[in-house]
Amino acid sequence: MNYVTNLLKAKSAERNGSNAVFTINDVVERGICVGCGACSIVDNSIQIERNEFGSMHASIKSGRLEPASIADKVCPFSDNSLNEDDLAIKLYDKSKSFDPRTGYFNDLFYGRRSDDDDILNSSSGGLTSFVAIELLKQNFVDGIIHVGRDQSNQREALFKFVTSYSEDDANQNKKSQYYSLSFDDVLKSIRGNGKRYVFVGVPCFIKALRNICINDKVLNNQVIFTLGLVCGHLKSSRFAELLSWQLSVTPERIQTVDFRKKNRDSTVNAYDFKVVDVDSREYYKTSSSLLGGNWGHAAFQLQACDYCDDIFAETADAVFGDAWLPQFSTYWQGTNIVLVRNNVITDILRAAKDAGRITLGTLSIDDLCKSQEGNFRHRKEGLVVRLSDDLKAGKKIPLKRVNLNGIAEISSKRKKIVRLRKKMAMKSHEYFLIAKRNNNLNLYMDPMRRLALKMQRLYFKDPFLMRVVRKLRNLLQ
Ligand SMILES: Cc1cc2nc3c(=O)[nH]c(=O)nc-3n(C[C@H](O)[C@H](O)[C@H](O)COP(=O)(O)OP(=O)(O)OC[C@H]3O[C@@H](n4cnc5c(N)ncnc54)[C@H](O)[C@@H]3O)c2cc1C
Ligand code: SF4
Ligand code: SF4
Repeated sequence: MNYVTNLLKAKSAERNGSNAVFTINDVVERGICVGCGACSIVDNSIQIERNEFGSMHASIKSGRLEPASIADKVCPFSDNSLNEDDLAIKLYDKSKSFDPRTGYFNDLFYGRRSDDDDILNSSSGGLTSFVAIELLKQNFVDGIIHVGRDQSNQREALFKFVTSYSEDDANQNKKSQYYSLSFDDVLKSIRGNGKRYVFVGVPCFIKALRNICINDKVLNNQVIFTLGLVCGHLKSSRFAELLSWQLSVTPERIQTVDFRKKNRDSTVNAYDFKVVDVDSREYYKTSSSLLGGNWGHAAFQLQACDYCDDIFAETADAVFGDAWLPQFSTYWQGTNIVLVRNNVITDILRAAKDAGRITLGTLSIDDLCKSQEGNFRHRKEGLVVRLSDDLKAGKKIPLKRVNLNGIAEISSKRKKIVRLRKKMAMKSHEYFLIAKRNNNLNLYMDPMRRLALKMQRLYFKDPFLMRVVRKLRNLLQ
């Protein structure tokens, strides 16, 4: 693994010219900052702010940072931080298995909570919150760091990173929040308080935390477990606003949203989006039927996610995702896929199965990866296209674990899809800002519908032509 990483690093230097190491300065200047806040934890001259597009990002007040400064060494998109391979080999090289698609692992499962109430209030099978709460109840940790509703009076956002110290608290902070956030405030607040934690996060946040822990012994002693969420991409706070606005709730009237309301009359992937307005009225609709609800359209995707190659949180003790597999599609309550790298978590899951508290079965590595087919296309093939395009345009690129020679094997249709998706993500931020400024949702809907139609034409045959052919066929019958 180290050999491969080093080889790639050498190749990257060759590709970009000898001085072309991609540093935190490039991350910020090119807008590839995911807003995690790691840099601000180690360097208090850096501030994390929400920009006009609703994305968290680092603002370096002191101008450019010294290359290989501590902040540069913890940034998940800088070439000067340890990458997933470097970190994983230190953490998990004693694991039973390794697969280049997922990183190291000991066990692979599918599963879900048995209790109907518990599972309905989770995104998927509910095993992420189940394991986090078990770690707390069994005294492996004192608290959980994860994401929940911002309930403060001066709330600036719908969600934030929070700490839970009891099962009841943790149960208030479940479900996936597709919402740009930073973890700097919460980590600064717990640092040095003598308590032990399990941290829940998307892969790049866990990678950043691992790099912080290498440089910060206090936090290293406090973060005992990390639970990753399989990640397609993260969205700006405008995603919640767009879906709500389509249900007639304008951005300033949102009280809460639920991105994953389960629907007993549908298959598992046809979940609803729900918004509650300031008068406590509820509105909901199948998420994928709303413009922007189709994940393939990448609405409000952060640009950082176009430069990410870690799907299965390769530096986390376990990673949880949705079992998007045909055998689980009719189970509308949801089923998790789980990849485990830490035996404490396997023991917790197996004991819970024996006690009838969860359903648990084993899964093959191929089925696990099959559940994320779209993710692989976007990350692996897609990343090759995006990096190659950047290089052609003379832009500096971060070092990623893909082979750019693979561009020759990617079909022209796939390249068009990748490029259009990137454009749709970028345009979604711009058009929504215009729509908000003019208080007119159509200024977003009309141009984005045109782009969505273009994408549909790329995937399928031209729907207009299909209608003409169908009409002709009917006339001839
Ligand atoms: C941005 C994002 C993208 C995702 N993309 C995919 C994907 O492409 N494919 C896939 O299979 N799964 C994806 N997931 C994971 C999936 O949505 C579920 O979160 C996962 O299956 C766990 O479900 P669960 O029922 O076990 O979680 P629950 O039992 O509901 O618990 C969820 C836990 O995650 C925490 N949490 C929620 N949102 C965040 C967040 N943004 N950052 C940190 N912690 C959080 C909660 O606080 C809670 O502790 C994504 C999740 C997120 C947040
Ligand atoms: S990605 Fe994270 S560490 Fe890097 S600049 Fe942005 S906030 Fe800082
Ligand atoms: S896709 Fe990658 S970069 Fe984007 S939030 Fe998920 S883990 Fe982070």
